[in-house]
Amino acid sequence: MPMRKDGVTVDLQMQPLDRLRGVGPAVAEKLAARGLSTLQDLWLHLPRQYEDRTRLTQIRALQPGVAAQVEGRVEAVERGFRYRPMLRVAICDDSHATLVLRFFHFRAAQVAQFAPGARVRCYGTPKPGQNGLEIVHPSYRVLDDAVETVLGDQLDPVYPTIDGVGTTVLRRLIDQALQRLPDDDSLELLPQSLLSHFQLPTLREALLTVHRPAPDSDIAALLAGRHPAQRRLALEELLAHHLSLRGQRIAQQAHAARSLRGLTLARKLRDALPFRLTGAQQRVFEQIRTDLRKPSPMLRLVQGDVGSGKTVVAALAAMLAVEDGRQAALMAPTELLAEQHLGNLRAWLEPLGVRVAWLAGKVTGRARAKVIAEVASGEAQVVVGTHALMQEGVAFADLALAIVDEQHRFGVHQRLALRDKGAGGTVGADAVVPHQLVMTATPIPRTLAMAAYADLDVSAIDELPPGRTPVQTVALSAERRPELVERIRAACAEGRQAYWVCTIIDESDEVVAQAAQSTFEELSRQLSGLRVGLVHGRLKAAEKQAMMRAFKEGEIDLLVATTVIEVGVDVPNASLMIVENAERLGLAQLHQLRGRVGRGSAASSCVLLYQPPLSQMARQRLATMRETNDGFVIAEKDLELRGPGELLGTRQTGIAGFRVADLARDADLLPQVQALGERLLADSPALAARIVARWVGGAARYASA
Ligand code: ADP
Ligand code: MG
Repeated sequence: MPMRKDGVTVDLQMQPLDRLRGVGPAVAEKLAARGLSTLQDLWLHLPRQYEDRTRLTQIRALQPGVAAQVEGRVEAVERGFRYRPMLRVAICDDSHATLVLRFFHFRAAQVAQFAPGARVRCYGTPKPGQNGLEIVHPSYRVLDDAVETVLGDQLDPVYPTIDGVGTTVLRRLIDQALQRLPDDDSLELLPQSLLSHFQLPTLREALLTVHRPAPDSDIAALLAGRHPAQRRLALEELLAHHLSLRGQRIAQQAHAARSLRGLTLARKLRDALPFRLTGAQQRVFEQIRTDLRKPSPMLRLVQGDVGSGKTVVAALAAMLAVEDGRQAALMAPTELLAEQHLGNLRAWLEPLGVRVAWLAGKVTGRARAKVIAEVASGEAQVVVGTHALMQEGVAFADLALAIVDEQHRFGVHQRLALRDKGAGGTVGADAVVPHQLVMTATPIPRTLAMAAYADLDVSAIDELPPGRTPVQTVALSAERRPELVERIRAACAEGRQAYWVCTIIDESDEVVAQAAQSTFEELSRQLSGLRVGLVHGRLKAAEKQAMMRAFKEGEIDLLVATTVIEVGVDVPNASLMIVENAERLGLAQLHQLRGRVGRGSAASSCVLLYQPPLSQMARQRLATMRETNDGFVIAEKDLELRGPGELLGTRQTGIAGFRVADLARDADLLPQVQALGERLLADSPALAARIVARWVGGAARYASA
């Protein structure tokens, strides 16, 4: 692709904003605080939404929460001072309905304007008030009766607000910036072929349309974010993020890593396992093995539904590092889970003569010093732990493989921090970094994975070990709770175990713990004769651990728990799970919780208790849970219900913060984005860098990763 950019234009795009009229040092500083420092930044400060003043809505037809413009005559005015000054103006139109305009800040002159009978046109979002709908602080105009007042003929853009810069000032600045938009030749970075393929406008046209929609533009499309101009901007933005992630990956892979080849230990482990690997486990292990043979770092995400057997795959990978005389680390997000991994790994690896060390927050004093010394000397071949692994003072002798379990619980920074624990040695002149394996049981839809994990290779363990019967799920109104007591009794009489999960709105550990405590007491009373246990976040680590061990050993029949057991806990004999207030939990969390049962061969069930009435959203979530056990299907549904920002959580701050793109809405662009991204990186890296700088710019906080 030719570089048509001459130096002059590049300068213009990067021109500082203090060249604009009305931008002194104070305003410049306010803008800079929001990351706006060049003309280009202002071009890309896009409207968040539009106000449609091109038409009037009848008061009778107003809907709460839906912004609209109305016109009516003042019927009554009331000034009050009950708690603070207040002005209420009732207006009425020919639909014979009344709307209240409410003001808390107003001047005397304003009050005088609202004479009974005066004609008022206003715009705002109505909400239910004491007497029907009301709009608080609408924007409004009192109209002269003698003059025919025309409606606006274009949408008014609403910009994300900037502290200290008023909306009028901001609009004027953007006007000035738009006047300086260069022609297509100097501005456009995308190939013409791509634009014609999707029938999209050039960047210049798109920016002008989105900032200042012409009177004849497709208003409905603009309001829905589906106008070709918006799609065009979304395309470039998605491309910029994709290129940025790929760029980080390329930077990572420029480092050296240990090439791990020996298979003897891994084979021994496989042969000693009490089960045969599933086809999916074998395939994913092969993928990992191929990566680990290379002298550049693996960056791989393993997605696998709950119970698909990711841990053993991680253990097999660790054996490659150990056989090469190096170390592997496995980090889990909770102590409970790390502890469980420790148990598994010790049982599997110690018979092979592999030394497994344990490091968590509660390991202190002499014990900690000892572990740290073993990690530093290399005596500890596999190190299992929590965040404590990343603490200062922990230094590995030769970490060749860093494994992070349930990575959605960690930020990208933490993953990188663990990697940095291994940076140190050199191969030739290059710093050596560990291979990275991240695992998650929260599958994300393919399109989303493409956008969010462009810096990782993705494998899927898409098969469950044989002999599992799918969990039967029912949703019951909380009134039917008494029936469950009998159900628990019956399950336990057959030698099975059960979980009772307490959740409440207030997420403070303290309050949830109290709720769990009283549920525990009540159930203990009702189920006398059964052994009931309690575990929640306020218990000491040792207490939690003892309780989990007792449950695992079958010394407890019913475990009352908070969502501390959500992730990873594995007790195959448990076959009944009851979740209280299930309507308040998201799909991903419900799926995780349910994954605690159905791990053995017995038929398992999950009861989702809810408090009626159910919201539409909650109803759909519960229906989804009843209909499927497939984490990938659930993830697709979750994406549909919640949108990508929430689904991805903390890791993808960049993804959640798109300016125009919406991963659910614009998903069809992603395959093109990916293909084009690869081509640009290969053929025109300088152009790729400019696209990234334009959209991601200073926000590329992981760029040095
Ligand atoms: P997850 O993928 O949710 O982390 P785990 O690694 O905890 O799953 O495995 C769930 C359970 O299945 C464990 O008890 C594990 O030992 C067992 N398991 C793993 N792989 C197999 C297999 N191929 N056949 C039978 N059981 C298996
Ligand atoms: Mg797991």
